[in-house]
Amino acid sequence: MIKKRKINLITLGCPKNVVDSEVLMRQLEDQEYEFVENSDESEVAIINSCGFIQSAKQESIDTILHAARLKREGRIKKLIVMGCLSERYSKELIKEIPEVDVYIGTNKLERVLNEFGVELKYELLGERKITTPSHYAYLKISEGCDRPCSFCSIPLIRGKHFSKPIEHIVQEAKYLSSKGVKELILIAQDTTYYGLDLYGKRVLAQLLDQLSEIEGIEWIKLMYAFPHGFPLDVLDRFKANPKLCRYLDIPLQHISDSILTSMKRSSSSKETFDLIRKIRDSIPDIALRTTLIVGYPNEGEKEFEELLTFIKEMQFDRLGVFTYSQEEDTAAYLLGDPVPQSVKEARQKQILETQREISFQKNQQLIGKTMRIIIDQRNDNAAVGRTEYDAPEIDNEVSIEDAHQLSVGEFYPIEIVDADAYDMFGIVSAVDPSLRESIKNKGRGK
Ligand code: SF4
Repeated sequence: MIKKRKINLITLGCPKNVVDSEVLMRQLEDQEYEFVENSDESEVAIINSCGFIQSAKQESIDTILHAARLKREGRIKKLIVMGCLSERYSKELIKEIPEVDVYIGTNKLERVLNEFGVELKYELLGERKITTPSHYAYLKISEGCDRPCSFCSIPLIRGKHFSKPIEHIVQEAKYLSSKGVKELILIAQDTTYYGLDLYGKRVLAQLLDQLSEIEGIEWIKLMYAFPHGFPLDVLDRFKANPKLCRYLDIPLQHISDSILTSMKRSSSSKETFDLIRKIRDSIPDIALRTTLIVGYPNEGEKEFEELLTFIKEMQFDRLGVFTYSQEEDTAAYLLGDPVPQSVKEARQKQILETQREISFQKNQQLIGKTMRIIIDQRNDNAAVGRTEYDAPEIDNEVSIEDAHQLSVGEFYPIEIVDADAYDMFGIVSAVDPSLRESIKNKGRGK
């Protein structure tokens, strides 16, 4: 049994893993364990791994191999690997990287705590050690997924969908607010499915209502919405609730009917078009983020052209695109992986280039506008922040000069004076014109 030692916890993958790590850290800190940034200072290393697609798996394996070397050199005494890669491949990993003391899967908090000789403290559930900048936090509202998407390994890793009880989520959000969090970013495998398992109906809108009543919370962002069965009562909340950012992340993956059918996405291209139009008609200034996959087994030139035309027509505000990763045990695995990697990457590049131009044009329209910006970072006389239309780490940022009077985690009216495809440049609203001009010039690299 390990007692009172320093721990280096490395979290890989998505914000859901960030939340799992934060919950674990709160439990262990309460038992006098200390978390350190640097593995050289710690006796114990924990790697919260990701096992989603090839590139993420490779990153996890490289991180584990590095820690295994430190263990062999005696620089760390214990190495624990938890999370998705471990859940999915522990048998293989035990053989391949035996230096790891224990492999633990997903949702096994007590199992990890037992490795430290401590029991789960139920009274701490709903509490976390916030590892993001303290003014925003991810709020995981459910775990697992019941969707049959043919390319996706997540249901195999994270299991069936289960919603957290609404009162637990609200209690966690109140805890986060008491720690200074102003922006809640709602996450799950599928946030729009929330409540179906627990309450027999979708209650995401009701959850948003309750979260909005929490004092101190100013912004709420909705990520990982699923198109099929999208709860339309949520659209009313966007209109009525000023705390709900006019931002929606809704991964669509593709638009060609033959691909959507093969992907088992349950929505047709017509249904997808109709939903996007309904959302935009209902909230005209909403920023829509989506995620797409290129190079899916039966994606030919025709299907890819359909996708390209779709994003030109739909003009998404934010867009991510992955190359198809053939994942064993998924329904699509049996289709093989016929699209050459070079073709996948060429298609990904073409989509990103098209989106770059769309994003540039959209950002140009913001020049001259004063927007409410939350400050994420500040160093000396410069600051970086985001609008309500941008999620941390994945979307646009606003760089602000002459920012010595700005504080991290606070909101300010910022005038956008220049912009490029993914970044904007701003000044604190109502400062003198000469400064405006110098920043403008600086923005354009003159
Ligand atoms: S909704 Fe589909 S893509 Fe998303 S986690 Fe569930 S199965 Fe995977």
